[in-house]
Amino acid sequence: TFGEDAGTDEDLEQRPPVVTVMGHVDHGKTRLLDTIRKANVGEGEAGGITQHIGAYQVETHLEGNDRVITFIDTPGHEAFTAMRARGAQATDIAIIVVAADDGVMPQTVEAINHAQAAEVPIVVAVNKIDKEGADPAKIRGQMTEYGLIPEEYGGDSMFVDISAKQGLNIDELLEAVLLTADASLDLRANPHMDAQGVAIEAHLDRGRGPVATVLIKRGTLRVGDSIVAGDAYGRVRRMVDENGDDVAEALPSRPVQVVGFTSVPGAGDNLLVVDEDRVARQIADKRNARKRNALAARGRKRISLEDLDSALKEHSQLNLIIKGDNSGTVEALEEALLGIEIDDEVQLRVIDRGVGAVTETNVNLAAASDAVILGFNVRAEGKATELANREGVDIRYYSVIYQAIDEIESALKGMLKPVYEEVELGKAEIRAIFKSSKVGNIAGCMVTEGSVRRNGKARLVRDGAVVSENVTIQSLRREKDDATEVRDGFECGMTLSYSDIKVGDIIDTYELREKPRD
Ligand code: GDP
Repeated sequence: TFGEDAGTDEDLEQRPPVVTVMGHVDHGKTRLLDTIRKANVGEGEAGGITQHIGAYQVETHLEGNDRVITFIDTPGHEAFTAMRARGAQATDIAIIVVAADDGVMPQTVEAINHAQAAEVPIVVAVNKIDKEGADPAKIRGQMTEYGLIPEEYGGDSMFVDISAKQGLNIDELLEAVLLTADASLDLRANPHMDAQGVAIEAHLDRGRGPVATVLIKRGTLRVGDSIVAGDAYGRVRRMVDENGDDVAEALPSRPVQVVGFTSVPGAGDNLLVVDEDRVARQIADKRNARKRNALAARGRKRISLEDLDSALKEHSQLNLIIKGDNSGTVEALEEALLGIEIDDEVQLRVIDRGVGAVTETNVNLAAASDAVILGFNVRAEGKATELANREGVDIRYYSVIYQAIDEIESALKGMLKPVYEEVELGKAEIRAIFKSSKVGNIAGCMVTEGSVRRNGKARLVRDGAVVSENVTIQSLRREKDDATEVRDGFECGMTLSYSDIKVGDIIDTYELREKPRD
């Protein structure tokens, strides 16, 4: 995650937390980001002409200490998850805004799901408390249903009642962000290295050419550095902050607008500093080629139950996103799926659910969390199918609930317990027994059917009855040489894991093969 870092303990220095604001439409995300930004522009700065570069930093105070927080200026979980789908996690903490006069709405739940899927701690901002009908207590009750239990009720989520419009309790909200960060995250990064970061926004500017806002994750970015981001490369000609001021170097968690790319990188592309321009170009070219190949390969890829199995084997967790035509079916499907009995070793997690078509945001969340999407009486919308093919995301459609359950159940069960079947290999009859002081009893045998193998499993059968179920052929010799296999019609000597043998006993040997699933 964002928290891990390169370098020894001494190299690591405290960095500001990076915050994304999410929540339902019209609950006040944009207003909150504006209020926080404005509250922080110093009085002297001529009305504070700020620039929207996609992120900004504010200074705040916690228990007498000056602290900085970085805000991503694109609200909403769509951008957040689209970046994650590209392999970039640029957020430490999510503020989830809920309007106190409206309550928890579908996109509030989505935002919670997306933040939880990314394992990002949440601070809840209960907004619009200036409005008539605002009921902050009701919001707390609703949020509890989604696992966000307020601290004051003994939980570990911080709730702050605010008014983004009136600028009420904004400092308290920032304080809650810092307290949450300090309590649950190791916010340290090594500034003494070449910079690594993530492009959070990029566009082509008429005057300046390609411009990208980069959030530094570790190291220090300097003017003059050779850089590569995705398949774009270049050299840092200029860096500008959110106030339009030139910056010579940018430390971890600092967002800066970078001028100097030869093409426009993508949002979510990771940025690297390299030794030379030439290297930057080579990496960019390679990535370009790789991307083309990957796209071609993904376009062909079809995902089967076996893929689902192997995903499970890797993670022992199956993440699901459920989309359905109405909330009743979605709930029924979720409940039924969560009711599937499975061993403790694997987990079934529904990371998001909703009514309506499968969207690009659903696909991005699936790509970011290795999830499978179940569509119940719905289809994919717009470019969602295309994106799913490109990202290798499995979307499964159903119109009958039990089919969905059967399929997920068989994937889970199959993954848990591979079914083995016994395959007969052969039989050997003990014709003589030799005692060896070194290896114990040696059975002199004649292979009468099939073959016997060293390390093979066998049953020992005497007069038609099984004497021992679980015998291993420990060594196998033919004439004077060790053998791995001896076929029927040949004599051999073997030692067995079972020593109480008699002449006339039959060694009935078999192999366990994993049974192919249907
Ligand atoms: P977003 O869709 O979540 O970004 O919501 P906006 O920030 O655009 O806010 C939606 C509407 O709610 C706007 O008209 C805001 O002015 C208004 N609004 C936002 N915060 C508050 C608040 O604290 N109190 C009141 N009364 N209105 C607010």
